[in-house]
Amino acid sequence: MATLRFQALGELFKRQPVSVSLPSPRVTDYYGELVFGKEAMQKYLSKDAYEAVLDAIEAGTTIERKISDAVALGLKSWALDKGATHYTHWFQPLTDGTAEKHDGFIDYGEGGNIISNFSGKLLAQQEPDASSFPSGGIRATFEARGYTAWDVTSPAFIVGTTLCIPTIFISYTGEALDYKTPLLKALAASDKAATDVCQYFDKNITKVHNNLGWEQEYFLIDEALYLTRPDLMLTGRTLMGHASAKDQQLEDHYFSSIPERVTNFMMEIEVEAHKLGIPAKTRHNEVAPNQFELAPIFEECNLANDHNQLIMDVMKRVARKHKFAILLHEKPFAGINGSGKHNNWSMATNTGVNLLSPGKNPKGNMLFLTFFVNVISAVYKHQDLLRASILTMSNTFRLGANEAPPAIVSVFCGTQLSAMLENLVEKVTSEKMTPEEKTALKLGIGRLPEILLDNTDRNRTSPFAFTGNRFEFRAVGSSANCAAAMTALSAAVAQQLREFKVDVDALIKSGVKKDEAIFQVIKKLIIESTPIRFDGDGYSDEWKKEAARRGLSNITSAPESIGKYLDPASKKALVEGGIMSERELEARVEVEYEKFIKKVQIEARVLGDLAINHIVPTAVAYQSHLIENVKGLKEIFTDSEFEELAGARKELIKDISHHISSIKAKTKAMINARKEANVIEHAKEKAFAYEQKVRPFIDDIRYHIDKLELVVDNEMWPLPKYRELLFNR
Ligand code: ADP
Ligand code: MG
Repeated sequence: MATLRFQALGELFKRQPVSVSLPSPRVTDYYGELVFGKEAMQKYLSKDAYEAVLDAIEAGTTIERKISDAVALGLKSWALDKGATHYTHWFQPLTDGTAEKHDGFIDYGEGGNIISNFSGKLLAQQEPDASSFPSGGIRATFEARGYTAWDVTSPAFIVGTTLCIPTIFISYTGEALDYKTPLLKALAASDKAATDVCQYFDKNITKVHNNLGWEQEYFLIDEALYLTRPDLMLTGRTLMGHASAKDQQLEDHYFSSIPERVTNFMMEIEVEAHKLGIPAKTRHNEVAPNQFELAPIFEECNLANDHNQLIMDVMKRVARKHKFAILLHEKPFAGINGSGKHNNWSMATNTGVNLLSPGKNPKGNMLFLTFFVNVISAVYKHQDLLRASILTMSNTFRLGANEAPPAIVSVFCGTQLSAMLENLVEKVTSEKMTPEEKTALKLGIGRLPEILLDNTDRNRTSPFAFTGNRFEFRAVGSSANCAAAMTALSAAVAQQLREFKVDVDALIKSGVKKDEAIFQVIKKLIIESTPIRFDGDGYSDEWKKEAARRGLSNITSAPESIGKYLDPASKKALVEGGIMSERELEARVEVEYEKFIKKVQIEARVLGDLAINHIVPTAVAYQSHLIENVKGLKEIFTDSEFEELAGARKELIKDISHHISSIKAKTKAMINARKEANVIEHAKEKAFAYEQKVRPFIDDIRYHIDKLELVVDNEMWPLPKYRELLFNR
């Protein structure tokens, strides 16, 4: 019988593109139809209820019980009209992905008859039995109870026949157990700090929000092949596989035409996204074969993040329908590009100003400069926090490798803006500036918009790049919840803006004029944060040396990086900034260590299994063939003829033996290393043990397997090869 691999390959000959038709040629006809947005609210809510919800979204007011009952009623009625039968509080625990527990609208009425029921209480708060989500020990000491509470700022939506209500997830004692709670707090802190600073420039600015535009990279492979690769199914990446003779070296995949089967998949994703009010806009091929990208138009950060979480789910579902498996892992294939999730980020005011876009007049430019420089400073002071927020186990394969941002955090400004900053340092003297000098300086910045047009050079090697009207945090992993990165960034920027205000206020108090004071502090920040600015090639070895000279940290180890959450600078931003309590932060760090440990453990187990029960038996079988062959040769040839003929075959037999023995010995040693690590109680030490003692075996064992793949009879090899995984679609 053919191996599973050949059966799977056989499936490919039968594949047809799954056809997709648009619900209507006009996207506006169905955009947002599954979202309880403004339009639906106006239709289903009373004026009072509608306004209360808008108020809650815009001004953060709380919704009274009476009103939430009215909202629940309207929401239920809308959902039933759309065919929903169940509802769920949709939340983001500290695992990969989202969680939901569905309840039917069905209930007993007063007379014992069946009615459909949904109240304000059910809308506002739920108590899922969620004791098996990671909590870093927070719940263990109190109660296993966790609560979900309605996030009014992100509209409810329908998936299939379920009404999903975005919620936060907290413990009985109020500690955050999810990604959303700290994100909302960080966004609020950044709003407050940024608004305070904006007040120097424009009294009309009373609110500042963060924008996020994520670019989601992913791989698609055929489902039949996926199902025959236990490593892909259980770990999200291939733990073995020799490089394909051709992969991305011809650079012929990037932006090339998209195959029909994939186009149909993308089209369906977009339709689904648009119905859910996710403004999907861009789709293209990425660098590696079978690698693609999806990007929406940016939105408010919390909403954008919900949408990213949701789209990852939608993508998985739609992929199945098209007989694809979608790989969101950061590095599904060794030796070719991995996937990231660029987080395009900016801050904008209630007056419609993008604070990271150079203005049209001197005042606007001062505002831009203030925020631009403060963000750079924040990244400088909190580089370790930012890295901690993105360096997960799976992202370690990408970060610091040669195709992805380095593990050194730096900021790319581009030549023009860098020159502008240098110029400013020179022009702002300790003596009092004349009004003319000030205007000249402001005007100097004023010339930026034209220059910027061609200044957004595509420096692809920077982890944090300014791209004209936003910063692009490129080190975020493709499978990650963006909230971790956005929480760290917003908290860091908020902290920096608070410090900025303290400094400026102190100068003003000592008699310095406001403009002058702002210039002085900006100058100080530019000088101070010089080391973080780097416009060169971030992949080069020279940069590593140069960064070390500059005193920048370069951490490629996830356990080491996770620990930086507890550094004084990080605590300042997170704990003093009111984003997390000390206890919540410690619990979070504990969860991160645990996740790291478990992911390495799973990889080690899967590799051990595959090595021993897939690869070794195959290699032994092929070796037996060879041995039979050699024996046959010996029978029919004379001794001297035999020596000449069988030499190469005997070498091959030895070679195979060597690899088999190495695999067996190393797998055994890996299991022992795991046993030793498993008895360590302290999560941090255990994570280090897994990283230093267990993890190296994974590559080591793989090396021998990949060598075997090259010599063992292709017909016998059990797992789909890289060339098959990467070029079938
Ligand atoms: P590229 O791949 O060239 O970087 P894309 O068009 O793929 O660009 O993605 C850019 C992303 O940045 C989109 O999601 C876009 O909406 C977003 N974006 C554009 N301007 C801003 C901004 N001011 N703030 C945040 N995100 C932005
Ligand atoms: Mg980009």
